[in-house]
Amino acid sequence: MRSRAERRRNWWGWGYDDAAMTDEQVASLGRAVADRLGTEVTPAPAPRLEDVSLPACRIDPPAALAPLCRDDDRDRALHTYGRSYRDVVRGFRREHPHPPDLVAHPENEADVVALLDWCGSSGYAALPFGGGSSVVGGVEAVGLRERYAGVVSVDLTALDRVLEIDRVSRAARIQGGALGPVLEDQLRPEGLTLRHFPQSFEVSTLGGWLATRSGGHFATLYTHIDDLVESMRVVTPTGISESRRLPGSGAGPSPDRLFLGSEGSLGIITEAWMRLQDRPRWRGSAGVRFDSFAAGSEAVRALSQSGLFPTNCRLLDAGEALVNAGVADVVDGGALCVLGFESADHPVGPWLERALELVADYGGTVPEGEVRLRDDGAAGAGSGGARGGAEGAWRGAFVRAPYTRDGLVRCGVIVETFETACTWDRFPALHASVTEAVEAALAEVCGGGWVTCRFTHAYPDGCAPYFSVLAPGRPGDELAQWAEIKAAAAEALLAAGGTITHHHAVGRDHDPWYRRQRPEVFGRALAAAKRELDPAGILNPDVVI
Ligand SMILES: Cc1cc2nc3c(=O)[nH]c(=O)nc-3n(C[C@H](O)[C@H](O)[C@H](O)COP(=O)(O)OP(=O)(O)OC[C@H]3O[C@@H](n4cnc5c(N)ncnc54)[C@H](O)[C@@H]3O)c2cc1C
Repeated sequence: MRSRAERRRNWWGWGYDDAAMTDEQVASLGRAVADRLGTEVTPAPAPRLEDVSLPACRIDPPAALAPLCRDDDRDRALHTYGRSYRDVVRGFRREHPHPPDLVAHPENEADVVALLDWCGSSGYAALPFGGGSSVVGGVEAVGLRERYAGVVSVDLTALDRVLEIDRVSRAARIQGGALGPVLEDQLRPEGLTLRHFPQSFEVSTLGGWLATRSGGHFATLYTHIDDLVESMRVVTPTGISESRRLPGSGAGPSPDRLFLGSEGSLGIITEAWMRLQDRPRWRGSAGVRFDSFAAGSEAVRALSQSGLFPTNCRLLDAGEALVNAGVADVVDGGALCVLGFESADHPVGPWLERALELVADYGGTVPEGEVRLRDDGAAGAGSGGARGGAEGAWRGAFVRAPYTRDGLVRCGVIVETFETACTWDRFPALHASVTEAVEAALAEVCGGGWVTCRFTHAYPDGCAPYFSVLAPGRPGDELAQWAEIKAAAAEALLAAGGTITHHHAVGRDHDPWYRRQRPEVFGRALAAAKRELDPAGILNPDVVI
């Protein structure tokens, strides 16, 4: 296995070149999908960088910053898009009309300050770039080449150190550009973990998580990055903001809350003190089957209101169970609940046992051998739940899914997800109306297709449903087709009382719906903050504010 430093990022698709699907794997995926969708599928070869033609770089960095800046095609193409389905399709088609002029790679905070000073005084847009896993157009310079004399993508991944650990308070000061595996590698020898695992963990950063208010894969309790942050240090064009380390504070509005979710439009997060956890030792898991998705969601509601706080509590409908957990015995219309508990402090058997009693009240059953308990010993072993069974299968597919998506793009298949959150009282109607709206759009736009649903998070007062779409694309028209499906989904979500995004952020893509969701007064307050912190309007223009 190559070391991380030697691995090369895929410039058009997900992750790393050495982990991309091979041509043989894509061919076999194409055959499987053709069977499922009842269409012909002819996989295309992966794109070649030498066939990409980029508009010329228009700017020269000053001598002091030149060593940090790159203008080669690979770096500019890689930083042109995030990694939504739409981004991957455009990368695959070698469509790069608005790449950044330069990609800057600051090595420390002073570099970040100098880069923002240069962009500010030159009238260049500066787009913070962490792992580039945005799925909402958060790192894309669409429309900016026309309005700014230069566009600089500020890649923060060289700011990747855990700088300090406070064992007593169990917290660490971590640089904003650290990718998930990079920061966990530095915490592991201390027996500690941030324990924040979004699906994009492999190529997303602490600063990106904070800037987008990301959600990890744990279903309840400590899973939002917002709850894990103790203080933040943010470089803005008009000064550095650093909040005080405190376990809690009632001193006025929270400075961290101003920057959490600001998506690079108010400042660049260079460091944060993060609350850590001991690495878990005891684990338990079970795959619970339900005859109906409604019964499963009632059981998850009861679980989320029970105070048991399972680490994993994903409800998957039958289609999701098949594709994402390889579980084929869920009846049509039924559901699988992937249930997991873990602790660094105590065995979790009693918690799992009580949870199974509770779900049984809603008709939940667990096949023989599907309840697993594990003790990894004092050192702790991994990052997730008891491996094996439905949870192990689900976890494997979860991590691999974005690579598979690249393969599906090569097969011309429309494959994308969208997500929301709503209170429990609204969920049944939201699920029905969103499914109906998307199925109608699929029938009209693609002549058919699949929409499936799972819960990513469960709260005492509501849930976060996550929808996946798989449909045959018309060669060349896939993006227009997806735009129609996405618009139908977004309208149905808002009409049913959901949010336009639970954890995928706003970016440029969700802006029209976000404006409708956001209180008008709050929008004006945000605009005033932007004027104060970024008077020249150079930081990630058009995003959030
Ligand atoms: C396959 C896939 C799975 C995903 N799964 C999840 C998931 O499970 N949970 C989830 O929440 N999201 C998920 N996402 C979305 C995405 O990974 C998150 O939004 C993530 O937090 C982005 O982190 P990043 O470092 O890649 O940021 P980027 O994509 O580089 O940037 C995202 C936004 O944050 C800004 N930004 C980045 N770094 C900084 C910084 N240091 N300071 C200020 N602003 C900054 C950027 O300007 C941009 O607006 C997924 C995306 C993909 C493609």
